[in-house]
Amino acid sequence: PNLVHAVIDGPLVIIGLGSIGRGVLPLIERHIRLTDRESFVVIEPSDDFAHILKRHGVRHLRVALTPENYETTLRTLFPKNDGGRGGGGKGNGMIVNVSVDVESVAIMSLAQELGVLYVDTVIEAWPGLYFDSDLGNAERSNYALREKMREAGRKYRGGATAVSGCGANPGMVSWLMKEALLRLARDTGVIVDGSASSYPPPETREDWARLAMTLGVKGVHVAERDTQVSSRPKSPGVFVNTWSVDGFLSEGYQPAELGWGTHERRLPRKGYRHDHGPGHAIWIDRPGGDTRVRSWVPGVGPQLGLLVTHNESLSIAEYYTVREEEDGTSDGRVVYRPTCHYAYHPCNDAILSLYETNGSGVLPERKHILTAEEIISGNDDLGVLLYGHARGAMWYGSRLSIDEARRLAPYQNATGLQVTAAVLAAMVWAVENPNAGFVEADEMDHVRCMQIQRPYLGSVECHYTDWTPVRDRINNFEEEDRDDDDPWQFANFLAR
Ligand code: NAD
Repeated sequence: PNLVHAVIDGPLVIIGLGSIGRGVLPLIERHIRLTDRESFVVIEPSDDFAHILKRHGVRHLRVALTPENYETTLRTLFPKNDGGRGGGGKGNGMIVNVSVDVESVAIMSLAQELGVLYVDTVIEAWPGLYFDSDLGNAERSNYALREKMREAGRKYRGGATAVSGCGANPGMVSWLMKEALLRLARDTGVIVDGSASSYPPPETREDWARLAMTLGVKGVHVAERDTQVSSRPKSPGVFVNTWSVDGFLSEGYQPAELGWGTHERRLPRKGYRHDHGPGHAIWIDRPGGDTRVRSWVPGVGPQLGLLVTHNESLSIAEYYTVREEEDGTSDGRVVYRPTCHYAYHPCNDAILSLYETNGSGVLPERKHILTAEEIISGNDDLGVLLYGHARGAMWYGSRLSIDEARRLAPYQNATGLQVTAAVLAAMVWAVENPNAGFVEADEMDHVRCMQIQRPYLGSVECHYTDWTPVRDRINNFEEEDRDDDDPWQFANFLAR
């Protein structure tokens, strides 16, 4: 249904008209009322999809934002908000950053000054961090990017809401995580509905973390399988994906990274802790896009996923950390934290593309994002795999087919729709909660957000499995770093 969920009062500025920018446009038109449609602007340097903006009557500002021009460009688009500095919290208008190469923290900080709401789907950096960087790999990690974002956010408590990293993942998976925990709690009898003696429903962050600990969840994979296929075979040398090729290459050549659980016994080879910040994560000195982990998804079963770094690996691990002081003692020692990482099997064409890129050792020049028109079949199945608890492992997530995605909304494939519907939910939540400062999906109301997003997720399913990462192997080899005492050690997932 074309339900209007929110009203944006003031200008709406979208940065980037890539696969996500194009896909979110029709959802905004369906579900958000703009009081000032004349000042709806899309900032996009290329002309490739300008016809879509023309068709929808949206103004196209053909500019590439840079560290030099972003401030004047955006101030001009919010003339009424630019009366003076430090007026954050007015919440007039919104910026949605769905570009590559435009630094999130710079735009978020400017949005605070202008009192403008803000949403993005990833903590993006200006060019120069992902490739050809003077920085070491620890500094190129998402941990470093996220700590920088949070440092900036501490200045703006109570300021205009700026939602950081809210697409499908990072984003939606944090809401799925909460639904999954409640489901597991009911299925294992920890929470009994309607009983006076039952475990109290979680409300605060501490409650959620304690629930995960009580359930014995040792770790979480963001376990994804993209089976979408094109009618045309991939040409050699062209990097093909179902969403941003640039975005995937950037994160794929950051170091592999994961939230590090309290049950883990030893660091992986070339695995390192960080020397600053809260220390809930580790990084491995190899590219995540060339690092494989054993995982499990419905439909396929056991599979290899890529250990690509992602914001949710860090935010979920941190959000579900239980410290001793919450037990009543005071030194704040961490008593529980789940391991958390991405286990991503992108579409087959992307796997082949990565194989070619790793083989050549050179970034591809030719890139292509598969459109809804050329994909002939397949799904994006994206969920959380909670493991190590009383029921073994449980996958909970969205199974969205290309056919259903096409029926639900134009200009996007199944992967895109899982992202854009989360952007829509974030936009609505920001309007409804305009003074939250910098926030991440874990901290937002998952019930409200899922209510907005669920109509676009296909089938949301729960699957239990007796699979473990040590269950099946073809032949035995000495090189493997196995821990036979605990199947749920990270060492057993890591296949390199
Ligand atoms: P895309 O590559 O299709 O499009 C990116 C767009 O940004 C392009 O149109 C490009 O011209 C534009 N752009 C490049 N430089 C710019 C600049 N300096 N100023 C303004 N615009 C500029 O990417 P996409 O698939 O639409 O993804 C957009 C962003 O969303 C990426 O950062 C990606 O990593 C992120 N993303 C997040 C999720 C998630 O689930 N959280 C999923 C998909 C994509």
